[in-house]
Amino acid sequence: MALKPLEIYKLLPKKNCKECGEQTCLSFAMKLAQGKADPASCPYLDSEAKAALSSQTGAPIAKITIGMGSRMITIGEETVFYRHDKTFYHEPAIIYRVVDTAPAEEITALAARIREEKITRIGIDLQVNGLAVDLGSGSLKQSVTAVTTANEGGDIPLVLQSEDPEILKACLAVCGNYNPLICAATEHNYRELCDLAKKYDAPLVVRAPDVEKIGALSKECMGLGIKKIVLDITGADSGEYLSRATLVRSLALTRTAPELGFPILLDCSGSVPDNIVTGIVKFASVLITPQLPVAEMTTALVLRQNIYTDPQKPIQMTPGLYRIGDPGPDSPVFMTVNFSLTFFTLQGYLEAARVPCFLLIVETEGMSVLTSVAAGKLNESVVAEWITKTSLADEVNEKKLIIPGYASPLSGRIEDATGWKVVVGPRDAADIGRFLTEEWK
Ligand code: SF4
Repeated sequence: MALKPLEIYKLLPKKNCKECGEQTCLSFAMKLAQGKADPASCPYLDSEAKAALSSQTGAPIAKITIGMGSRMITIGEETVFYRHDKTFYHEPAIIYRVVDTAPAEEITALAARIREEKITRIGIDLQVNGLAVDLGSGSLKQSVTAVTTANEGGDIPLVLQSEDPEILKACLAVCGNYNPLICAATEHNYRELCDLAKKYDAPLVVRAPDVEKIGALSKECMGLGIKKIVLDITGADSGEYLSRATLVRSLALTRTAPELGFPILLDCSGSVPDNIVTGIVKFASVLITPQLPVAEMTTALVLRQNIYTDPQKPIQMTPGLYRIGDPGPDSPVFMTVNFSLTFFTLQGYLEAARVPCFLLIVETEGMSVLTSVAAGKLNESVVAEWITKTSLADEVNEKKLIIPGYASPLSGRIEDATGWKVVVGPRDAADIGRFLTEEWK
């Protein structure tokens, strides 16, 4: 079981020297209990305390990366069973599978689809993450050719699917430096695959018929020095997966079975939509699937975004100057906060009004207009700061700023601080069209 803050505190030197970056040993203990600090930050721990804390603090699910560069996948590091207990950190990677007997053009086209296809929702680009090459042809030459084609560009994270050490060895020789996921070690091949994983410092999937055997195999691999493990707990159907995943995750989170403290892989081939939904909602970190039609892909990406967006943190826009249509020097200038929902609602009504305009978004830590006015986050200094930062005055002939109706108490202070004439706009974005027609100018 995980140690509680006071149990951790008892193991600390209690010098309150602040060298760990915390004000007191107690606050360091609290951070350790939350998995937000590293025991190594305290230089005064004796070896016994170090060993006890290392096994009992930090995220109970290991952090693993697959691939390199800007498309690198990070999974694991989860600390809670339910998102509302805290939040989930790393969304599951959705990986399209291709067989190594596919023509080179098909593999290249699928890699290009993964590279380029995206949907944008509330200002965030959503994409499929990587490519799994099923090396089941039995031909070493064919497998190597397929992996070489898939790895052209070196930017799409790869999963190499085979249980044959010789085929994996040859394929890793052409892409091992790009940190592919080796899939999978079984009770028959794990020694050879552990050697390969160590040689290329690549993550390794372990696969066995049931949770007990997966745990035992994972332990064996850990004993051979493997730290980057992914557990393949795919069952016969999504129900079996769910019961296995629930067991694995609870044993890992309570630190009852450290050998299960790794991200989970679910192969969705059996029943694609059911499995993808189950995996996204419950504990999967890697989902391997045949490529999806656009509608199903969109559903999966949106569901994933919903589950892995922290409801306690408002989604924020990057502050700055946005353009609706093609505004000119005589176009109106609206100002609002950087709460995404406010931005997209306002943007929709402005586009519907068909009046090109500027939209100045100021930094309010993602709070809505009403909240940020009440909390003092939206104030005359912030508005002046973003007018200057965006060189807004250079864009227009007349210094006139339309502020949200709910920010009307700030109008005088904004005028004094900025030198811009302030016009109070409507409270409700739905009235923007009427406001532009009847009141603007
Ligand atoms: S460095 Fe160690 S002894 Fe010093 S405050 Fe932090 S936990 Fe306490």
